[in-house]
Amino acid sequence: EHLVKYFPIRAGVFKRVVAHVKAVDDVSFDVYEGETLGLVGESGCGKTTIGMTLLRLYEPTSGRIVVENEDTTYLFLPTHRAKKYLRKNYIQRFRRLAEEKGSSKSVIESLSGVDRHYAELYFDHSKESDSKFISLLLSNVDEKRKKFRRDLQIVFQDPYSSLNPRMRVKTIVGEGPVTHKLVHGEKQVIEKVKSALEDVGISGEYIYRFPHEFSGGQRQRIGIARALALSPKLIIADEAVAALDVSIRSQVINLMKDLQKEHKLTYLFISHDLSVIKYICDRVIVMYLGKIVESAPKKTLFDNPLHPYTRALMSAIPIPNPNVKKERIILKGDVPSPINPPSGCRFHTRCFMAVDKCSAVEPELREIEPNHYVACHIVRSDEK
Ligand code: SF4
Repeated sequence: EHLVKYFPIRAGVFKRVVAHVKAVDDVSFDVYEGETLGLVGESGCGKTTIGMTLLRLYEPTSGRIVVENEDTTYLFLPTHRAKKYLRKNYIQRFRRLAEEKGSSKSVIESLSGVDRHYAELYFDHSKESDSKFISLLLSNVDEKRKKFRRDLQIVFQDPYSSLNPRMRVKTIVGEGPVTHKLVHGEKQVIEKVKSALEDVGISGEYIYRFPHEFSGGQRQRIGIARALALSPKLIIADEAVAALDVSIRSQVINLMKDLQKEHKLTYLFISHDLSVIKYICDRVIVMYLGKIVESAPKKTLFDNPLHPYTRALMSAIPIPNPNVKKERIILKGDVPSPINPPSGCRFHTRCFMAVDKCSAVEPELREIEPNHYVACHIVRSDEK
């Protein structure tokens, strides 16, 4: 929710911050259990930064990441900052709301999701003290943090650099389950690694081999096995098939689809390849320069793209039949710098539909038709 990630640029002798790369700027979206959500856009639009920030491999500049009714923000803060965060973002807000609405019951009823869950906890204990609410949330923070680390896994783009060349497959795949104490003793580790490898179509006999003894496709399967070994809830696949040959690519995508059914997985599938997105995803989010410009179920988006940028992306998909004529939209110029993005709509410098308002006012993401959201001043539901 409202996720922001800015990277500071430092310069000079004292390495002072002179500017920020605004990689992700106020992005909100949901990922539902069991679905594959596609995140698409050209290089530098912030897709990977979102993935890394969701995993807390990058610290978000602001915004919150909610996983199963738990605000994960405070889990990664030192205790004094976590307390401050909970006071500011929950206790003070609940108190303000209680004054406005007159009773704790009406506050709880007015909220949803994690806010409602925390409000219930807070008002249950308000008679005693605020510190009760804080200590309740902080009491098992280590466990919650470990669970978060286990439930969210990533499959990286490059199967050559994402596996440690000095580790045998047994250590690469077994490290997670051992760290999270899902297995105890050598026998259980070997069983776990063999079963994860067999799930991805690699013989369990190969557990003592090194990554260089496998092909690119096999290495990516090992990367998937490493994620699977922790029975995660969400797998972030960051351009997971982009580095593979086309024939291997389809095998790995089909494997991921099969694993999803078998293990009830949820994917956040990051890619710049629209044909892959079309094949594997249920819903798609289109990003441009750190912002979401369109989001819709896959079929709606591919049949009826509404945002000018999405239309240009779609028009770039090649059609195998040379007799079919297709409108090509060629965008002018390059993607502007994320250090100093254009005012108003960030796409206005390249948009073929831009009007005066576009450079001054930032468009909001509006629901144009059910579940179809577009950030554009001009687009209406009847436009094709
Ligand atoms: Fe183009 Fe304006 Fe729509 Fe932005 S708001 S996409 S510049 S028409």
